[in-house]
Amino acid sequence: MTTGFELPEEQEGPKEPAPVAPDDVWGAPPPSDLPPAYPPEEEAPVAGAPPTQAELASPPASVSAPLPWESTEGVEPGGPEELRPVDLVRKWILDSVPVLQPIELPLQEAQGCVLAADIVAQLDLPPFSSSGMDGFAVRANDVAEATPQNPRQLRIVGRVAAGQQPDATVGLDEAVRIATGAPVPAGADAIVPVEQTSLQGEGVLVLAPVKEGAFIRPAGQDVKAGGLLVPRGRRIAAPELGLLASAGFSSLLVHPRPRVAVISTGDELVEPGRPASFGLIRDSNSFTLFGGVRDAGAEPFLGGIVRDDVDQLRETVLGLAIRADCFISSGGVSVGERDVVKKAFFRRAEIDFYKVAMQPGMPQGFGMIEGKPYWGLPGNPVSVFVSFEVFIRPALLKMMGRHDILRPEVTAVLETDVGGPKEKTVFARVRVTRLGGEWHAASTGPGQSNLISTVAKANGLAVIPPGTETMPAGTKVRVMLFRALEDDG
Ligand code: AMP
Ligand code: MG
Repeated sequence: MTTGFELPEEQEGPKEPAPVAPDDVWGAPPPSDLPPAYPPEEEAPVAGAPPTQAELASPPASVSAPLPWESTEGVEPGGPEELRPVDLVRKWILDSVPVLQPIELPLQEAQGCVLAADIVAQLDLPPFSSSGMDGFAVRANDVAEATPQNPRQLRIVGRVAAGQQPDATVGLDEAVRIATGAPVPAGADAIVPVEQTSLQGEGVLVLAPVKEGAFIRPAGQDVKAGGLLVPRGRRIAAPELGLLASAGFSSLLVHPRPRVAVISTGDELVEPGRPASFGLIRDSNSFTLFGGVRDAGAEPFLGGIVRDDVDQLRETVLGLAIRADCFISSGGVSVGERDVVKKAFFRRAEIDFYKVAMQPGMPQGFGMIEGKPYWGLPGNPVSVFVSFEVFIRPALLKMMGRHDILRPEVTAVLETDVGGPKEKTVFARVRVTRLGGEWHAASTGPGQSNLISTVAKANGLAVIPPGTETMPAGTKVRVMLFRALEDDG
């Protein structure tokens, strides 16, 4: 029986790290070769659908030989030794996660979400011709000769304020007093600003000529009825909110934010607010992931700390399923006897466990629980951060209907030697600065995956391709930026 999680055939079998082209830092097609866009109308793909209960109960009589990384009933957790290239794992994950079905959200809640359908103006915008100044609505022809020395006198036949309907029309040598934003009365074709007039008895003296159309904001000048206001696929930000509100829309059809359950596993874990006796450590991963999920625009919630107990983990995850669109757990995916995530989800082939040719973050699990993506990350805090950035953040963006799902990258000159195992893609924590028109990247500390302060000091991950053991200072390297350069405070 297969998991349905296989990689493309040509990728089967043990892999030697491929020779790496200079700009091919992932060891395979660069990220730009990934499917660039996930059109909103795309049906939710379920490439990694878990086997059905029926399939599990009666496996097919003859099965082809499992791929090295396939989980198969009866096989002990422990997993294959083959390392999967980072880019292939990411592509497989991205192909497996669905774009969430659109829902209608009130304007304010739609901010940051991707529009699922074109929005067309139902009426002209602005909806009626209005005055752009406080003054008098007139016929331009009547005041064509007006000067301060030889003012033109008009009869005031009415007045109109913003929000009112004009109570008069403008005829020969007539004027209607008008406020900014008020509808232009019939007959008038220009506004004389109040500064160019002076009141006299029942009338008004106009001291200067105005051109036809002066200070009138015509109906439909901004967008005509039937015109496109915002195209689908656009991420809703402040300008779109204002435009759509002005066109009368109070809710929008958008791809929702995934609700992401974040779970930490480990007998040694304590919440940050509680005392930690000797040997216990604080649960930091829940908070790293919470921050990363929220930063991606999705909605995290903490599922808490689960002890290294298979039944408790299954119960917790299944209990959270009703509130979650996907799950992220950390810890328990390796080969230790307490590796509870693997034990809980391996045998039923719901989650595929494998090793990625990367450092940090090698052991990983991914699959579908109740049809919802589940990421099982390793426990070390830096592995959690890097795995989230490389695999989960782009997938969450895809689920939200986003097209531009990868972090921006710059090419930077290394200021320090950086390296790691030759057969892996190494993601090194660096601080990027711009010096004399060039990007520079300095390591923020040693590469061990428990050193979380090295992440807090960094703003980028330098990507050292497989096939390279050490990149010496002075070499140019690709850096994924995980915070905006102005985010320092
Ligand atoms: P594991 O993958 O469960 O073997 O964990 C690997 C390492 O990460 C161990 O040193 C754990 O104590 C540590 N670790 C696991 N979960 C967390 C967590 N939520 N916060 C901080 N460290 C953790
Ligand atoms: Mg553990």
